[in-house]
Amino acid sequence: MKEIVMLKYGEIILKGQNRYRFEEILIKNIKNALKSFGRIKVFSAQSTVYVDFLDDETDISSAVDSLKKVFGVSSLTRAYRASYDFDEAKAEAAEYLKFELMKAKTFKVAAKRADKRYPFNSMQIGAFMGEYLLQRFKNLSVDLHNPDIIVYVEVREGHLYIHSTPEKGAGGLPVGSSGHGLLMLSGGIDSPVAGYKMAKRGMRISAIHFESPPYTSERARIKVEKLAEKLSAYASDIKLYVVEFTEIQEKIRDICRDDLFTVIMRRVMLRIANKVAAECGAGVVITGESLGQVASQTMNAIICTDSVSEIPVFRPLIGDDKQEIIDVSYRIDTYDISIEPYEDCCTVFTPRHPKTSPKKEEVEFEESKLDIDNLLTDISINVKTIYPVRK
Ligand code: ATP
Ligand code: MG
Repeated sequence: MKEIVMLKYGEIILKGQNRYRFEEILIKNIKNALKSFGRIKVFSAQSTVYVDFLDDETDISSAVDSLKKVFGVSSLTRAYRASYDFDEAKAEAAEYLKFELMKAKTFKVAAKRADKRYPFNSMQIGAFMGEYLLQRFKNLSVDLHNPDIIVYVEVREGHLYIHSTPEKGAGGLPVGSSGHGLLMLSGGIDSPVAGYKMAKRGMRISAIHFESPPYTSERARIKVEKLAEKLSAYASDIKLYVVEFTEIQEKIRDICRDDLFTVIMRRVMLRIANKVAAECGAGVVITGESLGQVASQTMNAIICTDSVSEIPVFRPLIGDDKQEIIDVSYRIDTYDISIEPYEDCCTVFTPRHPKTSPKKEEVEFEESKLDIDNLLTDISINVKTIYPVRK
């Protein structure tokens, strides 16, 4: 097809020697995002990735929707690969952008000549193309400062590429370029957003979920799988580890002090997360905690929980207000799933008066009543890989 998609990198450009590695990962992720869009060819030149669609019937606007979720892309646009011959290219530009040009009152041409052998320089390309479009569209006049539409003409590798204003890309860094984290994924609003934010910075994501059947239902697990699926549109395939947590929770409830139940439960969860992280090769644990949101997220409670972790715990939402988190969850389309009303294992046994400022010594004393090592040996864990929904 003559219509292609051009994507510009964001921050990757800043990465010096690492740039080629980033570029390679980005191209792999772009191909992965377009798996269901027929045969494609993807290549990069001069900080731009080109996607060629080799089948005629490909739905490019859906392809663009998928590409808008690929991190590491600062902007993207559909574009027309026009002839190198300038007269032909002018006519092709007018035809390709005719609906936008007919609707606009003002325009300007922005020309860029990456191919220095081209007989006209950027100024001339802009002037000649502008003149031609003015003749073709009587509704138009030139406005260099605040035009309704900008017609971009880029000369590269034997072609003129024509497009209008590019759309914003997903930003961030390509997933897979910044390590691998294990996301503690509940069914709530916060944790999918936490996973999204780390994936945005290039982190590959695996996820761990704790469930407590029969206190928690099959539907609660399906909800978590749906959240992981939404997240995978951005983070690519996600391995989801589902831990059966009932017996452990019951033991903590029966043996330990009621007001310390939550912090002890969270310490046990984090220990299990450490084990799973080691198994799947994740270097950090990620949670959706936000300072002061609930009793288990006060500074002292977090310090007390963290002390059992052998690897760092990333909390990308620590300084975010709930509303800010909700805004992101709307944008990434997880909100409606998160508010489905199924019980989470954390809320099932929640004490009425959890201690907001637990002391490490008293927590350790209570915990010593449990045989933790033994508790952690026989856990049942189910693993499932969650893939993005493909159209
Ligand atoms: P969310 O933060 O996702 O909205 P929540 O508000 O119920 O859930 P908490 O129960 O305070 O939050 O838990 C804080 C964090 O602990 C969560 O963001 C998540 O990372 C982790 N977490 C809580 N429950 C679970 C669970 N059942 N499985 C895995 N991780 C969990
Ligand atoms: Mg929360």
